[in-house]
This record gives sequence, structure tokens and C-alpha cells, in this order.
Amino acid sequence: MVTIDRVETLLLDLPTIRPHQLSMTTMQGQTLMIVRIYCSDGSVGIGEGTTIGGLAYGAESPEGMKLAIDTYFSPLLLGQRADDVSQLMQRLQLAIRDNRFAKSAVETALYDALGHRRNLPVSELLGGRICDRLPVAWTLASGDTAKDIDEAEAMLSMRRHRIFKLKIGKRTVAEDVAHVAAIKKALGDRGAVRVDINMAWSELDARYGIPALADVGCELVEQPVASAAALKRLSGKYPIAVMADESLVGPESAFALAQAEAADVFAIKIEQSGGLRAAQKVAAIAEAAHIELYGGTMLEGSIGTVASAHAFSTFHALEWGTELFGPLLLTEDIVTTPLIYKDFELQVPQGAGLGIALDEERVQFFNREQRKKSVILAAVK
Ligand SMILES: [Mg+2]
Repeated sequence: MVTIDRVETLLLDLPTIRPHQLSMTTMQGQTLMIVRIYCSDGSVGIGEGTTIGGLAYGAESPEGMKLAIDTYFSPLLLGQRADDVSQLMQRLQLAIRDNRFAKSAVETALYDALGHRRNLPVSELLGGRICDRLPVAWTLASGDTAKDIDEAEAMLSMRRHRIFKLKIGKRTVAEDVAHVAAIKKALGDRGAVRVDINMAWSELDARYGIPALADVGCELVEQPVASAAALKRLSGKYPIAVMADESLVGPESAFALAQAEAADVFAIKIEQSGGLRAAQKVAAIAEAAHIELYGGTMLEGSIGTVASAHAFSTFHALEWGTELFGPLLLTEDIVTTPLIYKDFELQVPQGAGLGIALDEERVQFFNREQRKKSVILAAVK
């Protein structure tokens, strides 16, 4: 019987290629909470919990996840049978409310370790993949229209992205619409343009903004308003798809949104859903309700991104592609072989488990604890 021997958590602070401006915050870097689960047969699984801008996006932060896993998750996992992933997740579910991001990180690590023991990719453990490659959108969020156009042109010429999501909602509706119009005009048919408002608009703003966005060639608007009721009133009114993101927090909310006919598209994220299997449940609800799918990101690094890719590859459809570009926003990687982005798509790894391995030297270099120690040592000297 293989049991869980040790659960380790780390906080890694990584730099980003540029500031990432959203309606609620501007990110200057990214913190990854990494969990490693060590099993009695020597197998190890890795998982990741990440947020957008600390606590700016939701109730969980990387630091909070680390604390929750160290204090409350670990005692429930230690000594348990490592192969019984569903039973272990049930055990956590019964004892720990919410904490969906931390659960997603732990479930990822459990599946990664199981995949190594069984020599199977995580996608196979989740029922089998439908595709090996996922289209990947890029987010333009420099805060400057000309810079965003240059960035989009560079992505097109590299053949890395041809779907562009614009982060808006910080400026006035008229300024934002002008920004979107200028980018769509520059790209023409070469690039699809969508927007994410991250709930920044009032319903009245949205009643002016959404039809204006449709007029300038924007094809989708993501979470323009906060409430699901307002989302419902805006859906189906204009010739543009309305996507739910922040409102979608796991299977129960997916069912409620589907029942209310509040969105045309679901942005599914493994962390928001509460894990890989929970994300699959959200996809099943969407399928039953004829809601289209998009694979979302919490701007995870390579581990969370590849875990998402394994889960999304099992979905029946991904009509709107994915935004699994998280590792590309970081200047450094912590895995030995970077993920492969080619011809506008991300390749889902074929190897055992997640199909990636950590670069231990890089992990320790970005480890917050190690950095603190070196600062203290330098001060003592
Ligand atoms: Mg979003």
C-alpha cells in the first residue's frame, strides 16, 4: 500500500515580462504556491495554487493557501492511501469548506503522483483526452493602445496567438470602446478581439458599452458586471457572446447560471472550480445546457497551466479555445522543459503525470524562504 508521507508547500515569487493591468489591480509579478506530495514508494506529485494580484481577485491568496494546506489539509492526508484520489478529495471536501484553489493544487499533486506510479498522463486518469493541442489566446493589458497593437503584431508574426483578450474597465466606457476599436481596426481579420471587464461595469455602463463593442467588431464580452442577475439581463440581447468568469465558482454555480440562462459561454478554471474533476463537472453542466466553453486561467505558472491543459483536453468541446498563456507572462520558468507553444496552440504533454518536472535550482532561487534567509545573511555580514 502506497501512503502519503509528507506534504510540502513553497511560495515562489516570479517576475513578469511587463506590468499586467486589470480593472481591479496591476500585477508587477506573480506568486506561485507550490505543493509537493511525497509518497511511501518514492513517487512525488506537484500542484500549484495561484491568484491574480494577491487578494484582489478572490478570497484565497498564495500565502493563505500555504497556511491552509500546512495546518488543515496535511493532517487529513498524511498516512492515507495515495492511490485513492477521489476518496482523499472527498475527505478534504467533508472537513474543509471552500478553499477551492488550495483543493485544486492538492488534487493536481495527487493525480501527478498517481500518474507517475501508473505511468499514465493525468488526462488519461481523468478519462482520456479528446485533443492533444489547445488554441491559446493572449491578453493585451499593458494599459496603452499603441503598445498593445505592437504586442499583438509580434504575437501574430511569431504564430503564437491570434485571439486577443483586452483587459478593460479601468477607464470610461467611451475610452475603452475607442481602445478596442483601434486594436480591432489594426488587426482586421488577422486577429479575433474579445474583452474582459472583470465586473467593473454597472449594468447601465454595460447597456451602453456592450452594443458599442459589438459595433467595433469585438466578438465576446467577459464578465462585464458582478451579479449573475445582471449578467442574465445582458445575455442574448446583443450580437456578441457574453461569458461568465467570476460568477462561475464550481458546479453548483454553473448549474444556477445555466438554469438562469445567464451566459452564452463559461470560462472554466480548475482553481475556481475547486479542482480538475470539479472543472469536468462544470463542463458537463455546460454541455447539457448547450453553453459553449473556454478554458480560463488564474495566470498560473507551468504546473497550474499544464494541469489545466490536461483537464481541458478531456472536455467535449472548447468552442472559444483557452487562455493558458500564464507561463509566457513570466520571465523565468521553474520546469526543466518549458511547455511547447506552436502554431497558436499549446501542446498537452504526453509523459506520465503532468508530464513536466521542476528545476530544483530555479525553485530554490525563487523560494521566498530562501530569499529571506539570504537577505538576513547579507545583513549579518
Ligand atoms: Mg476573466
